[in-house]
Amino acid sequence: MSCSQIESRMKNLAEERDGFACQNCGDVLRLIVHHIKPKGRGGTDEIINLITLCKGCHFKAHNFYNYGYWINRFRRMIALKKEVVNLEKYIT
Ligand SMILES: [Zn+2]
Ligand SMILES: [Zn+2]
Repeated sequence: MSCSQIESRMKNLAEERDGFACQNCGDVLRLIVHHIKPKGRGGTDEIINLITLCKGCHFKAHNFYNYGYWINRFRRMIALKKEVVNLEKYIT
């Protein structure tokens, strides 16, 4: 799977942002950083295009439902995180 080709620095950043847990089911084992928009379709290694998943959910993201389903789902999750990060800025 193309998701194994992410630069390790970006992998660490994505895992840290996601709290070292699968963003689909919360599992903390066997994590894989996944490209929301696949590299083959023009996706990049930017943090905004990466999401942490466990092995099982990563398999689902590549093999179940359609391409648009996961893109919309993951983009919504990342958008929520941005708001949380912004809020933390105001609190501290
Ligand atoms: Zn999972
Ligand atoms: Zn993937």
